[in-house]
Amino acid sequence: MAKNAICHQCGKPLPPTTRRHARFCSPAHRRAAYRAHNPDPRRACARFLADVDAKKPAAPYVAIMRDERFPGMYRLKRADGTQSDIGNLTRAKDALAAMRGR
Ligand SMILES: [Zn+2]
Repeated sequence: MAKNAICHQCGKPLPPTTRRHARFCSPAHRRAAYRAHNPDPRRACARFLADVDAKKPAAPYVAIMRDERFPGMYRLKRADGTQSDIGNLTRAKDALAAMRGR
């Protein structure tokens, strides 16, 4: 072992039992040095799609309307013209009442 050999990762002196050309004091520091120079793209910071998850608040409900396909089922019409999911009349009335603050 070379005299005054130090670990390239932590800078501490290598243990006397290391092999002659050792550069790191431990396998953990060898891996750490490798990762520092070869970052794994899969472990990079998580990527989030912009604006996809930013759910806009839905327009308020303005009316209850019958579903065109299923008799006895209803949807809520929103102020922007879109429709809610399907539900029965009780659910639709409850949702509309909740939106209006009872
Ligand atoms: Zn070290």
